[in-house]
Amino acid sequence: MWGKGTCRFPPRGVVAASIGKMLQVRGYEVTAVKIDPYLNVDAGTMNPYMHGEVFITEDGGEIDLDLGHYERFLNINLPKNNNITTGQIYLTVIKRERRGDYLGACVQVVPHITNEIKRRIRLAGKISNVDIVIVEVGGTVGDIESLPFLEAIRQMRLEEGFSNTLFVHVALVPILDVTGEQKTKPCQHSVNELRRIGIQPDIIVARCSVPLEPAAKRKIALYGSVPENAVFTSYTVDCVYKVPFILDGQGMGDYICERLGLKAVKPDWSEWRRIVESFVNTEYEVKIAMCGKYAKLADAYISINEALRHAGAAIKTKVNIDWIETEIFEESPDELELLRNYDGILIPPGFGPRGTEGKILAIKFARENKIPFLGICFGFQMAVIEFARHVIGLEDANSTENDPNTPNPVIDLLPEQRGVIEKGGTMRLGAHPIVIEPGTLVYELYGKTIIYERHRHRYEVNPTYWDILQRYGLIFSGRSPDGRRIEFIELKGHPFFLGSQSHPEFKSRPGRPSPPYLGFVKAALNYKLSRKSS
Ligand code: GLN
Repeated sequence: MWGKGTCRFPPRGVVAASIGKMLQVRGYEVTAVKIDPYLNVDAGTMNPYMHGEVFITEDGGEIDLDLGHYERFLNINLPKNNNITTGQIYLTVIKRERRGDYLGACVQVVPHITNEIKRRIRLAGKISNVDIVIVEVGGTVGDIESLPFLEAIRQMRLEEGFSNTLFVHVALVPILDVTGEQKTKPCQHSVNELRRIGIQPDIIVARCSVPLEPAAKRKIALYGSVPENAVFTSYTVDCVYKVPFILDGQGMGDYICERLGLKAVKPDWSEWRRIVESFVNTEYEVKIAMCGKYAKLADAYISINEALRHAGAAIKTKVNIDWIETEIFEESPDELELLRNYDGILIPPGFGPRGTEGKILAIKFARENKIPFLGICFGFQMAVIEFARHVIGLEDANSTENDPNTPNPVIDLLPEQRGVIEKGGTMRLGAHPIVIEPGTLVYELYGKTIIYERHRHRYEVNPTYWDILQRYGLIFSGRSPDGRRIEFIELKGHPFFLGSQSHPEFKSRPGRPSPPYLGFVKAALNYKLSRKSS
Protein backbone atom coordinates (compact mmCIF):
# COMPACT_ATOMS: atom_id res chain seq x y z
CA MET A 1 0.00 0.00 0.00
CA TRP A 2 2.85 2.30 0.66
CA GLY A 3 4.84 3.16 -2.36
CA LYS A 4 7.90 1.67 -3.87
CA GLY A 5 9.69 -1.57 -3.16
CA THR A 6 10.12 -2.49 0.44
CA CYS A 7 9.50 1.04 1.72
CA ARG A 8 6.67 0.60 4.21
CA PHE A 9 6.04 4.15 5.36
CA PRO A 10 3.97 6.72 3.51
CA PRO A 11 5.57 8.03 0.32
CA ARG A 12 6.54 11.69 0.01
CA GLY A 13 3.55 12.46 -2.20
CA VAL A 14 1.32 11.51 0.70
CA VAL A 15 3.10 14.00 2.94
CA ALA A 16 2.47 16.75 0.35
CA ALA A 17 -1.16 15.66 -0.02
CA SER A 18 -1.53 15.63 3.77
CA ILE A 19 -0.26 19.20 4.03
CA GLY A 20 -2.99 20.13 1.55
CA LYS A 21 -5.57 18.29 3.62
CA MET A 22 -4.53 20.07 6.84
CA LEU A 23 -5.09 23.38 5.09
CA GLN A 24 -8.34 22.27 3.44
CA VAL A 25 -9.93 21.25 6.74
CA ARG A 26 -9.10 24.75 7.99
CA GLY A 27 -11.15 26.22 5.17
CA TYR A 28 -8.34 27.11 2.74
CA GLU A 29 -8.40 26.26 -0.93
CA VAL A 30 -5.35 24.47 -2.19
CA THR A 31 -3.87 22.96 -5.29
CA ALA A 32 -0.79 20.80 -5.65
CA VAL A 33 1.98 20.68 -8.21
CA LYS A 34 4.47 17.87 -8.70
CA ILE A 35 7.87 18.57 -10.19
CA ASP A 36 9.66 15.64 -11.78
CA PRO A 37 13.24 16.43 -12.68
CA TYR A 38 13.51 13.81 -15.43
CA LEU A 39 13.86 14.64 -19.13
CA ASN A 40 10.71 12.85 -20.26
CA VAL A 41 8.04 15.37 -21.22
CA ASP A 42 5.51 13.32 -19.30
CA ALA A 43 5.23 9.99 -17.50
CA GLY A 44 3.38 8.41 -20.44
CA THR A 45 6.50 7.02 -22.06
CA MET A 46 7.90 5.50 -18.88
CA ASN A 47 7.84 1.90 -17.76
CA PRO A 48 5.40 1.46 -14.87
CA TYR A 49 7.69 -1.22 -13.47
CA MET A 50 10.43 1.36 -12.91
CA HIS A 51 8.40 4.43 -12.20
CA GLY A 52 5.03 3.23 -10.99
CA GLU A 53 1.63 3.93 -12.46
CA VAL A 54 0.97 6.57 -15.09
CA PHE A 55 -1.89 8.65 -13.71
CA ILE A 56 -4.43 10.15 -16.14
CA THR A 57 -6.07 13.51 -15.53
CA GLU A 58 -9.48 14.74 -16.71
CA ASP A 59 -7.75 16.84 -19.38
CA GLY A 60 -5.79 13.87 -20.69
CA GLY A 61 -2.41 14.29 -19.02
CA GLU A 62 -0.26 11.19 -18.58
CA ILE A 63 1.37 12.18 -15.37
CA ASP A 64 3.15 11.21 -12.19
CA LEU A 65 1.30 9.02 -9.71
CA ASP A 66 1.77 11.56 -6.92
CA LEU A 67 -0.97 13.62 -8.56
CA GLY A 68 -3.20 10.64 -7.89
CA HIS A 69 -2.42 11.00 -4.17
CA TYR A 70 -3.25 14.70 -4.34
CA GLU A 71 -6.57 14.06 -6.13
CA ARG A 72 -7.58 11.33 -3.71
CA PHE A 73 -6.64 13.22 -0.54
CA LEU A 74 -7.90 16.61 -1.63
CA ASN A 75 -10.91 15.43 -3.66
CA ILE A 76 -10.05 17.80 -6.50
CA ASN A 77 -9.40 17.30 -10.22
CA LEU A 78 -5.98 18.56 -11.20
CA PRO A 79 -4.99 19.78 -14.65
CA LYS A 80 -2.07 18.09 -16.40
CA ASN A 81 -0.08 21.31 -16.15
CA ASN A 82 0.29 20.59 -12.44
CA ASN A 83 2.95 18.05 -13.32
CA ILE A 84 6.09 19.90 -14.37
CA THR A 85 9.05 18.01 -15.81
CA THR A 86 12.50 19.05 -16.95
CA GLY A 87 11.52 17.82 -20.42
CA GLN A 88 8.60 20.28 -20.63
CA ILE A 89 10.63 23.20 -19.34
CA TYR A 90 13.50 22.69 -21.76
CA LEU A 91 11.17 21.99 -24.67
CA THR A 92 9.38 25.31 -24.08
CA VAL A 93 12.58 27.31 -23.69
CA ILE A 94 14.26 25.72 -26.71
CA LYS A 95 11.17 26.29 -28.88
CA ARG A 96 11.20 29.96 -27.82
CA GLU A 97 14.88 30.22 -28.61
CA ARG A 98 14.30 28.78 -32.11
CA ARG A 99 11.45 31.22 -32.65
CA GLY A 100 13.83 34.03 -31.88
CA ASP A 101 12.20 35.18 -28.65
CA TYR A 102 15.59 35.62 -27.01
CA LEU A 103 17.40 37.08 -30.03
CA GLY A 104 20.78 38.43 -29.06
CA ALA A 105 20.81 36.72 -25.67
CA CYS A 106 22.79 33.75 -24.49
CA VAL A 107 20.09 31.33 -23.27
CA GLN A 108 21.05 29.86 -19.91
CA VAL A 109 19.77 27.67 -17.09
CA VAL A 110 19.68 30.77 -14.88
CA PRO A 111 17.63 32.81 -15.68
CA HIS A 112 15.81 31.28 -18.67
CA ILE A 113 15.12 27.80 -17.33
CA THR A 114 14.49 29.01 -13.78
CA ASN A 115 12.17 31.76 -15.03
CA GLU A 116 10.13 29.22 -16.95
CA ILE A 117 9.89 27.01 -13.84
CA LYS A 118 8.66 29.95 -11.74
CA ARG A 119 6.19 30.95 -14.46
CA ARG A 120 4.74 27.44 -14.52
CA ILE A 121 4.38 27.28 -10.72
CA ARG A 122 2.66 30.67 -10.59
CA LEU A 123 0.42 29.74 -13.50
CA ALA A 124 -0.82 26.68 -11.60
CA GLY A 125 -1.85 28.95 -8.72
CA LYS A 126 -3.45 31.49 -11.02
CA ILE A 127 -5.48 28.98 -13.04
CA SER A 128 -6.88 27.22 -10.00
CA ASN A 129 -7.35 30.51 -8.12
CA VAL A 130 -6.53 28.99 -4.74
CA ASP A 131 -5.14 30.32 -1.45
CA ILE A 132 -2.11 28.03 -1.29
CA VAL A 133 -0.10 26.12 -3.91
CA ILE A 134 1.76 23.07 -2.64
CA VAL A 135 4.78 22.26 -4.78
CA GLU A 136 6.50 18.93 -4.38
CA VAL A 137 9.98 18.81 -5.88
CA GLY A 138 10.73 15.19 -6.71
CA GLY A 139 14.15 13.61 -6.73
CA THR A 140 16.70 13.82 -3.96
CA VAL A 141 18.64 16.84 -2.74
CA GLY A 142 22.05 16.64 -4.37
CA ASP A 143 20.74 15.23 -7.66
CA ILE A 144 22.10 17.12 -10.64
CA GLU A 145 18.64 17.11 -12.25
CA SER A 146 16.79 18.84 -9.44
CA LEU A 147 19.20 21.79 -9.10
CA PRO A 148 17.37 24.21 -11.46
CA PHE A 149 14.09 23.54 -9.65
CA LEU A 150 15.61 24.14 -6.22
CA GLU A 151 17.24 27.32 -7.53
CA ALA A 152 13.85 28.44 -8.87
CA ILE A 153 12.10 27.93 -5.54
CA ARG A 154 14.98 29.67 -3.75
CA GLN A 155 14.36 32.68 -5.97
CA MET A 156 10.63 32.49 -5.39
CA ARG A 157 11.14 33.02 -1.68
CA LEU A 158 12.88 36.34 -2.43
CA GLU A 159 10.22 37.38 -4.90
CA GLU A 160 7.13 36.29 -2.97
CA GLY A 161 8.40 37.16 0.47
CA PHE A 162 9.36 35.13 3.53
CA SER A 163 5.89 34.94 5.06
CA ASN A 164 4.32 33.85 1.77
CA THR A 165 6.58 30.85 1.29
CA LEU A 166 7.42 27.84 3.38
CA PHE A 167 10.04 25.17 2.74
CA VAL A 168 9.28 21.68 3.99
CA HIS A 169 12.13 19.20 3.77
CA VAL A 170 11.05 15.55 3.81
CA ALA A 171 13.95 13.33 4.82
CA LEU A 172 14.42 9.67 5.47
CA VAL A 173 15.37 8.57 8.99
CA PRO A 174 16.40 4.92 8.79
CA ILE A 175 16.52 2.65 11.82
CA LEU A 176 19.55 0.43 12.36
CA ASP A 177 18.40 -3.19 12.47
CA VAL A 178 20.89 -4.22 15.14
CA THR A 179 20.46 -1.48 17.71
CA GLY A 180 17.10 -0.04 16.71
CA GLU A 181 18.75 3.38 16.67
CA GLN A 182 17.15 6.14 14.58
CA LYS A 183 19.88 7.50 12.33
CA THR A 184 19.58 11.24 11.76
CA LYS A 185 22.83 11.59 9.81
CA PRO A 186 21.28 11.28 6.30
CA CYS A 187 18.82 14.01 7.24
CA GLN A 188 21.59 16.25 8.63
CA HIS A 189 23.51 15.83 5.40
CA SER A 190 20.57 16.56 3.14
CA VAL A 191 19.78 19.73 5.10
CA ASN A 192 23.42 20.79 4.71
CA GLU A 193 23.18 20.14 1.00
CA LEU A 194 20.02 22.26 0.79
CA ARG A 195 21.69 25.09 2.69
CA ARG A 196 24.65 24.95 0.35
CA ILE A 197 22.31 25.89 -2.46
CA GLY A 198 20.67 28.59 -0.44
CA ILE A 199 17.58 26.93 1.00
CA GLN A 200 17.04 26.77 4.74
CA PRO A 201 14.04 24.51 5.47
CA ASP A 202 11.33 25.89 7.75
CA ILE A 203 9.94 22.48 8.60
CA ILE A 204 11.51 19.04 8.54
CA VAL A 205 9.36 15.94 8.15
CA ALA A 206 11.18 12.75 9.00
CA ARG A 207 10.00 9.65 7.17
CA CYS A 208 10.56 6.89 9.66
CA SER A 209 8.82 3.60 10.36
CA VAL A 210 8.03 4.76 13.95
CA PRO A 211 7.63 8.18 15.60
CA LEU A 212 10.93 9.99 16.19
CA GLU A 213 12.49 9.57 19.63
CA PRO A 214 12.87 12.88 21.49
CA ALA A 215 16.66 12.64 21.13
CA ALA A 216 16.48 12.14 17.36
CA LYS A 217 14.03 15.01 17.06
CA ARG A 218 16.32 17.29 19.09
CA LYS A 219 19.27 16.38 16.90
CA ILE A 220 17.37 17.04 13.68
CA ALA A 221 16.16 20.40 15.01
CA LEU A 222 19.64 21.39 16.16
CA TYR A 223 21.51 20.39 13.02
CA GLY A 224 18.66 21.41 10.74
CA SER A 225 18.44 24.84 12.38
CA VAL A 226 14.69 24.68 12.95
CA PRO A 227 12.76 24.86 16.22
CA GLU A 228 11.96 21.47 17.74
CA ASN A 229 8.24 22.09 17.20
CA ALA A 230 8.95 22.31 13.47
CA VAL A 231 10.13 18.69 13.28
CA PHE A 232 7.44 16.11 12.52
CA THR A 233 7.36 12.38 11.72
CA SER A 234 5.47 10.66 8.96
CA TYR A 235 5.50 7.08 10.22
CA THR A 236 4.00 3.76 9.19
CA VAL A 237 0.27 3.44 9.74
CA ASP A 238 -2.29 0.82 8.78
CA CYS A 239 -4.20 3.23 6.54
CA VAL A 240 -2.54 5.83 4.34
CA TYR A 241 -5.44 8.24 4.82
CA LYS A 242 -4.48 8.59 8.50
CA VAL A 243 -1.31 10.50 7.64
CA PRO A 244 -2.96 13.97 7.67
CA PHE A 245 -4.21 13.28 11.24
CA ILE A 246 -0.86 12.04 12.31
CA LEU A 247 0.95 15.13 11.14
CA ASP A 248 -1.75 17.50 12.36
CA GLY A 249 -1.77 15.72 15.72
CA GLN A 250 1.89 16.73 16.04
CA GLY A 251 0.91 20.37 15.47
CA MET A 252 1.95 20.67 11.84
CA GLY A 253 -1.25 22.30 10.54
CA ASP A 254 -1.21 25.05 13.15
CA TYR A 255 2.51 25.59 12.68
CA ILE A 256 2.11 26.03 8.91
CA CYS A 257 -0.78 28.48 9.36
CA GLU A 258 1.11 30.55 11.90
CA ARG A 259 4.22 30.63 9.77
CA LEU A 260 2.27 31.66 6.64
CA GLY A 261 0.32 34.28 8.59
CA LEU A 262 -2.98 32.47 7.97
CA LYS A 263 -5.85 32.93 10.41
CA ALA A 264 -5.83 30.26 13.11
CA VAL A 265 -8.93 28.24 12.29
CA LYS A 266 -10.02 25.17 14.19
CA PRO A 267 -9.79 22.28 11.74
CA ASP A 268 -12.95 20.38 10.89
CA TRP A 269 -11.87 16.78 10.55
CA SER A 270 -15.36 15.29 10.87
CA GLU A 271 -15.77 14.11 7.27
CA TRP A 272 -12.19 12.86 6.92
CA ARG A 273 -12.47 11.05 10.26
CA ARG A 274 -15.59 9.23 9.03
CA ILE A 275 -13.72 8.22 5.89
CA VAL A 276 -10.69 6.94 7.80
CA GLU A 277 -12.92 5.01 10.20
CA SER A 278 -14.60 3.30 7.27
CA PHE A 279 -11.20 1.88 6.28
CA VAL A 280 -10.37 0.71 9.75
CA ASN A 281 -13.72 -0.60 11.02
CA THR A 282 -14.30 -3.39 8.53
CA GLU A 283 -16.38 -6.51 9.22
CA TYR A 284 -15.72 -8.57 6.13
CA GLU A 285 -12.76 -9.46 3.95
CA VAL A 286 -12.42 -10.40 0.30
CA LYS A 287 -9.48 -11.64 -1.71
CA ILE A 288 -8.97 -10.28 -5.20
CA ALA A 289 -6.58 -11.75 -7.77
CA MET A 290 -5.03 -9.07 -9.92
CA CYS A 291 -3.67 -10.92 -12.95
CA GLY A 292 -1.17 -9.09 -15.09
CA LYS A 293 2.45 -8.32 -15.71
CA TYR A 294 4.44 -5.86 -13.60
CA ALA A 295 2.88 -7.88 -10.80
CA LYS A 296 5.84 -7.36 -8.50
CA LEU A 297 5.57 -3.61 -8.15
CA ALA A 298 2.50 -2.57 -6.20
CA ASP A 299 2.88 1.03 -7.41
CA ALA A 300 2.27 -0.02 -11.02
CA TYR A 301 -1.46 -0.25 -10.29
CA ILE A 302 -1.80 2.11 -7.35
CA SER A 303 -5.07 3.77 -8.47
CA ILE A 304 -6.67 0.36 -8.99
CA ASN A 305 -5.55 -0.79 -5.55
CA GLU A 306 -6.94 2.35 -4.00
CA ALA A 307 -10.20 2.14 -5.98
CA LEU A 308 -10.70 -1.42 -4.68
CA ARG A 309 -10.00 -0.27 -1.13
CA HIS A 310 -12.34 2.74 -1.43
CA ALA A 311 -15.06 0.38 -2.65
CA GLY A 312 -14.37 -2.08 0.17
CA ALA A 313 -14.44 0.63 2.84
CA ALA A 314 -17.91 1.69 1.64
CA ILE A 315 -19.28 -1.77 2.47
CA LYS A 316 -17.22 -2.52 5.59
CA THR A 317 -14.97 -4.85 3.63
CA LYS A 318 -11.22 -5.16 3.76
CA VAL A 319 -9.90 -5.89 0.28
CA ASN A 320 -6.81 -8.08 0.10
CA ILE A 321 -5.08 -8.01 -3.26
CA ASP A 322 -2.68 -10.61 -4.64
CA TRP A 323 -0.80 -9.92 -7.84
CA ILE A 324 -0.43 -12.91 -10.09
CA GLU A 325 1.91 -13.02 -13.09
CA THR A 326 -0.24 -14.44 -15.88
CA GLU A 327 2.75 -16.01 -17.59
CA ILE A 328 2.49 -18.83 -15.03
CA PHE A 329 -0.89 -19.82 -16.54
CA GLU A 330 0.70 -20.03 -19.98
CA GLU A 331 3.47 -22.30 -18.71
CA SER A 332 1.11 -24.59 -16.79
CA PRO A 333 -2.65 -24.09 -17.15
CA ASP A 334 -3.17 -26.23 -14.01
CA GLU A 335 -2.09 -23.16 -12.07
CA LEU A 336 -5.43 -21.60 -12.98
CA GLU A 337 -6.93 -23.65 -10.14
CA LEU A 338 -5.19 -21.17 -7.87
CA LEU A 339 -7.89 -18.68 -8.86
CA ARG A 340 -10.50 -20.70 -6.97
CA ASN A 341 -9.08 -19.20 -3.79
CA TYR A 342 -10.21 -15.75 -4.83
CA ASP A 343 -13.51 -13.89 -4.59
CA GLY A 344 -12.89 -11.78 -7.66
CA ILE A 345 -10.54 -11.63 -10.64
CA LEU A 346 -9.32 -8.32 -12.05
CA ILE A 347 -7.39 -7.94 -15.29
CA PRO A 348 -5.66 -4.55 -15.20
CA PRO A 349 -4.59 -2.25 -18.03
CA GLY A 350 -1.61 -3.26 -20.11
CA PHE A 351 0.37 -2.98 -23.30
CA GLY A 352 1.93 -5.55 -25.61
CA PRO A 353 1.68 -9.30 -25.88
CA ARG A 354 3.70 -10.57 -22.88
CA GLY A 355 1.45 -12.46 -20.47
CA THR A 356 -1.61 -11.91 -22.65
CA GLU A 357 -2.48 -15.53 -23.32
CA GLY A 358 -2.43 -16.12 -19.56
CA LYS A 359 -4.78 -13.18 -19.05
CA ILE A 360 -7.22 -14.65 -21.58
CA LEU A 361 -7.08 -18.00 -19.75
CA ALA A 362 -7.80 -16.27 -16.43
CA ILE A 363 -10.82 -14.51 -17.96
CA LYS A 364 -12.12 -17.82 -19.34
CA PHE A 365 -11.76 -19.29 -15.87
CA ALA A 366 -13.70 -16.39 -14.32
CA ARG A 367 -16.45 -16.59 -16.95
CA GLU A 368 -16.91 -20.36 -16.79
CA ASN A 369 -16.68 -20.61 -13.02
CA LYS A 370 -18.88 -17.57 -12.46
CA ILE A 371 -16.24 -15.76 -10.40
CA PRO A 372 -16.79 -11.95 -10.32
CA PHE A 373 -14.66 -10.38 -13.04
CA LEU A 374 -13.58 -6.85 -13.80
CA GLY A 375 -11.50 -6.03 -16.89
CA ILE A 376 -10.00 -2.58 -17.22
CA CYS A 377 -8.93 -1.22 -20.61
CA PHE A 378 -6.55 -3.94 -21.86
CA GLY A 379 -8.44 -6.30 -19.51
CA PHE A 380 -11.69 -5.29 -21.24
CA GLN A 381 -10.11 -5.90 -24.65
CA MET A 382 -8.84 -9.33 -23.58
CA ALA A 383 -12.36 -10.22 -22.36
CA VAL A 384 -13.70 -9.49 -25.85
CA ILE A 385 -11.00 -11.73 -27.35
CA GLU A 386 -11.78 -14.49 -24.85
CA PHE A 387 -15.48 -14.31 -25.76
CA ALA A 388 -14.73 -14.38 -29.49
CA ARG A 389 -12.42 -17.34 -29.12
CA HIS A 390 -14.29 -19.55 -26.70
CA VAL A 391 -17.96 -18.58 -27.01
CA ILE A 392 -18.15 -17.75 -30.73
CA GLY A 393 -15.43 -20.18 -31.73
CA LEU A 394 -13.14 -17.73 -33.54
CA GLU A 395 -10.10 -19.47 -32.18
CA ASP A 396 -7.59 -17.17 -33.80
CA ALA A 397 -9.30 -13.96 -32.61
CA ASN A 398 -6.85 -11.43 -31.25
CA SER A 399 -5.94 -7.77 -30.95
CA THR A 400 -3.75 -6.30 -33.68
CA GLU A 401 -1.64 -4.96 -30.81
CA ASN A 402 -0.69 -8.56 -29.91
CA ASP A 403 -0.71 -9.99 -33.43
CA PRO A 404 -0.76 -7.51 -36.32
CA ASN A 405 -1.62 -10.34 -38.76
CA THR A 406 -4.46 -11.97 -36.86
CA PRO A 407 -7.22 -13.20 -39.23
CA ASN A 408 -9.85 -12.09 -36.71
CA PRO A 409 -8.88 -8.69 -35.32
CA VAL A 410 -11.76 -8.27 -32.85
CA ILE A 411 -9.69 -5.55 -31.21
CA ASP A 412 -8.14 -3.12 -33.65
CA LEU A 413 -6.47 0.26 -33.79
CA LEU A 414 -8.74 3.31 -33.41
CA PRO A 415 -9.20 4.74 -36.92
CA GLU A 416 -7.72 8.10 -35.90
CA GLN A 417 -4.60 6.30 -34.67
CA ARG A 418 -3.63 5.13 -38.15
CA GLY A 419 -0.65 7.11 -39.26
CA VAL A 420 0.16 8.26 -35.71
CA ILE A 421 3.86 7.58 -35.28
CA GLU A 422 4.86 9.64 -32.25
CA LYS A 423 4.30 7.80 -29.02
CA GLY A 424 4.21 10.69 -26.50
CA GLY A 425 0.71 11.88 -25.55
CA THR A 426 -0.94 10.53 -28.69
CA MET A 427 -3.38 7.94 -27.32
CA ARG A 428 -7.10 8.62 -26.83
CA LEU A 429 -6.66 10.33 -23.49
CA GLY A 430 -8.63 11.93 -20.68
CA ALA A 431 -12.30 12.18 -19.76
CA HIS A 432 -14.82 11.39 -22.50
CA PRO A 433 -18.57 11.02 -22.19
CA ILE A 434 -20.10 7.55 -22.22
CA VAL A 435 -23.75 6.84 -22.93
CA ILE A 436 -25.09 4.02 -20.82
CA GLU A 437 -27.77 1.61 -21.92
CA PRO A 438 -30.67 1.52 -19.44
CA GLY A 439 -31.49 -1.89 -18.01
CA THR A 440 -27.87 -3.03 -17.89
CA LEU A 441 -25.57 -3.82 -14.99
CA VAL A 442 -23.57 -0.66 -15.73
CA TYR A 443 -26.74 1.42 -15.57
CA GLU A 444 -27.56 -0.16 -12.24
CA LEU A 445 -24.07 0.79 -10.98
CA TYR A 446 -23.99 4.40 -12.16
CA GLY A 447 -27.72 5.14 -12.02
CA LYS A 448 -27.49 7.52 -14.98
CA THR A 449 -27.23 7.49 -18.74
CA ILE A 450 -24.33 9.91 -19.28
CA ILE A 451 -21.10 9.53 -17.37
CA TYR A 452 -17.52 10.74 -17.85
CA GLU A 453 -14.56 8.45 -17.31
CA ARG A 454 -10.87 8.85 -18.11
CA HIS A 455 -9.31 7.00 -21.03
CA ARG A 456 -5.90 5.93 -22.24
CA HIS A 457 -5.91 3.65 -25.26
CA ARG A 458 -5.08 3.20 -28.95
CA TYR A 459 -7.20 0.12 -29.64
CA GLU A 460 -10.94 -0.60 -29.50
CA VAL A 461 -13.60 -3.22 -30.26
CA ASN A 462 -13.57 -3.60 -34.05
CA PRO A 463 -17.02 -2.56 -35.48
CA THR A 464 -16.82 -5.40 -38.02
CA TYR A 465 -17.38 -7.85 -35.16
CA TRP A 466 -20.11 -5.97 -33.26
CA ASP A 467 -22.94 -7.99 -34.78
CA ILE A 468 -21.53 -11.42 -34.16
CA LEU A 469 -20.37 -10.56 -30.64
CA GLN A 470 -23.86 -9.34 -29.75
CA ARG A 471 -25.57 -12.27 -31.44
CA TYR A 472 -23.64 -14.63 -29.19
CA GLY A 473 -24.71 -12.74 -26.09
CA LEU A 474 -22.05 -10.12 -25.36
CA ILE A 475 -23.84 -7.01 -24.10
CA PHE A 476 -22.57 -3.58 -25.12
CA SER A 477 -23.77 -1.55 -22.16
CA GLY A 478 -21.97 1.74 -22.85
CA ARG A 479 -20.86 3.56 -25.98
CA SER A 480 -19.41 6.90 -26.99
CA PRO A 481 -22.16 9.48 -27.75
CA ASP A 482 -21.65 9.09 -31.51
CA GLY A 483 -22.17 5.35 -31.11
CA ARG A 484 -18.74 4.75 -32.67
CA ARG A 485 -17.04 3.16 -29.69
CA ILE A 486 -17.85 0.39 -27.28
CA GLU A 487 -17.09 1.50 -23.74
CA PHE A 488 -18.54 -1.27 -21.53
CA ILE A 489 -19.27 -4.95 -22.04
CA GLU A 490 -21.10 -7.35 -19.75
CA LEU A 491 -22.63 -10.82 -19.74
CA LYS A 492 -26.03 -12.10 -18.70
CA GLY A 493 -26.24 -15.15 -16.45
CA HIS A 494 -23.00 -14.35 -14.66
CA PRO A 495 -23.00 -12.82 -11.17
CA PHE A 496 -20.65 -10.00 -12.25
CA PHE A 497 -18.76 -9.89 -15.51
CA LEU A 498 -17.82 -6.37 -16.52
CA GLY A 499 -15.27 -4.88 -18.88
CA SER A 500 -14.54 -1.17 -19.19
CA GLN A 501 -12.57 0.48 -21.98
CA SER A 502 -12.07 3.48 -19.68
CA HIS A 503 -10.24 3.66 -16.35
CA PRO A 504 -12.83 4.45 -13.66
CA GLU A 505 -10.13 3.98 -10.98
CA PHE A 506 -8.70 7.44 -11.67
CA LYS A 507 -11.87 9.10 -10.38
CA SER A 508 -12.28 6.93 -7.30
CA ARG A 509 -11.86 8.80 -4.02
CA PRO A 510 -11.98 7.70 -0.39
CA GLY A 511 -15.60 8.06 0.69
CA ARG A 512 -16.67 8.32 -2.99
CA PRO A 513 -15.96 4.94 -4.53
CA SER A 514 -16.10 4.38 -8.27
CA PRO A 515 -19.33 2.57 -9.30
CA PRO A 516 -17.73 -0.32 -11.26
CA TYR A 517 -15.27 -1.01 -8.44
CA LEU A 518 -18.01 -0.82 -5.83
CA GLY A 519 -20.14 -3.25 -7.86
CA PHE A 520 -17.18 -5.59 -8.28
CA VAL A 521 -16.22 -5.67 -4.59
CA LYS A 522 -19.88 -6.12 -3.58
CA ALA A 523 -20.15 -9.03 -6.02
CA ALA A 524 -16.92 -10.49 -4.63
CA LEU A 525 -18.30 -10.31 -1.10
CA ASN A 526 -21.61 -11.90 -2.16
CA TYR A 527 -19.71 -14.61 -3.99
CA LYS A 528 -17.63 -15.32 -0.91
CA LEU A 529 -20.65 -15.39 1.42
CA SER A 530 -22.64 -17.60 -0.95
CA ARG A 531 -19.78 -20.07 -1.20
CA LYS A 532 -19.50 -20.15 2.56
CA SER A 533 -23.18 -20.88 3.05
CA SER A 534 -23.33 -23.59 0.36
N1 GLN B 1 -2.86 -1.37 -25.01
C1 GLN B 1 -4.26 -1.11 -25.07
C2 GLN B 1 -4.58 0.07 -25.96
O1 GLN B 1 -3.72 0.84 -26.27
C3 GLN B 1 -4.83 -0.90 -23.69
C4 GLN B 1 -4.29 0.30 -22.99
C5 GLN B 1 -4.54 0.29 -21.51
O2 GLN B 1 -4.80 -0.74 -20.91
N2 GLN B 1 -4.46 1.46 -20.89
O3 GLN B 1 -5.72 0.25 -26.36
